Amino acid sequence: MVRDAIEAVIKAILNEKVFLNELDEKIGDGDHGSNMAGGAQAAKEVLAEQDDDATLKEILQALGDAVTENVGGSAGPLYGAALQEAAKVLKKNSKLDAVTLEKIFGAAVEAIQLRGNSRRGDKTMLDVLIPIRETFRATNCAGKTFEDILTDARDAARDGLEFTKTIAARKGRAAALGDKSIGFEDPGAASSLIIFRTLCSKWKDSLRS
Ligand SMILES: [Mg+2]
Repeated sequence: MVRDAIEAVIKAILNEKVFLNELDEKIGDGDHGSNMAGGAQAAKEVLAEQDDDATLKEILQALGDAVTENVGGSAGPLYGAALQEAAKVLKKNSKLDAVTLEKIFGAAVEAIQLRGNSRRGDKTMLDVLIPIRETFRATNCAGKTFEDILTDARDAARDGLEFTKTIAARKGRAAALGDKSIGFEDPGAASSLIIFRTLCSKWKDSLRS
């Protein structure tokens, strides 16, 4: 299941390469799609090297190392650190439920905040990842099925990307544009949504099968 989901993410990123480059052309240097595609290619190789019985923890760690080494721009170190820190909170036998997802996204968000010195409202991937994390908090999950929680999380991620359109960038190249960056989606937030949307649809499929 994990392998299947990661393969789907790799495919989605490669499919959206041009779209992400175009988004980045509007407020950055136009390479976010190419950078992410490089990471997807590296992830593909890492995945092929994993043993059949590799745990989610081992796979995330290997992906984190590969992304840190191979993805250019600011996205590489940030996504790489997010994966490495997420791997650390997992146990050998962690199962993928809302509690684990809260830990994974919590670790990812904190890693990105620390390395990017950024917070919610800066027009970055955090504007998508923090709302996802919040959806998995126990108080927000009470009385809901896992499928409902995933739907909430996906909607929160989509709203987070919409939110980046309404604010001025305070991080990266786009920050130099100030208010001129308003009206455009943040490319990093867009790639985060693509990744999460793909994972959600795979997880939902697995619940039904
Ligand atoms: Mg760029």
